Amino acid sequence: MAEGKAGNVVKRFTCGELVEVITAYLDHALDEPSQVAVETHLACCDDCGHYFDQFRTTIRAVGDAPPEKLSAPTRDRLMAAFRNRRQN
Ligand SMILES: [Zn+2]
Repeated sequence: MAEGKAGNVVKRFTCGELVEVITAYLDHALDEPSQVAVETHLACCDDCGHYFDQFRTTIRAVGDAPPEKLSAPTRDRLMAAFRNRRQN
């Protein structure tokens, strides 16, 4: 994961990096600059924003569980879907 130590440097994620941090984001496991960077990316990037909507819909569909309660297969499926989308 990228360093957030510089303080004033505004962190930005690429779409590829966002995939790697999205579950940590949902788990509230990111530091604050990274959390903000994720939200900024989702707000600015239609592609990832749309995916993230689906991600949350899926989470709700499995019982409104917090992400850390998702089963590993469910998480893996969501991550795989995101990764596959990026490879197109
Ligand atoms: Zn994106």
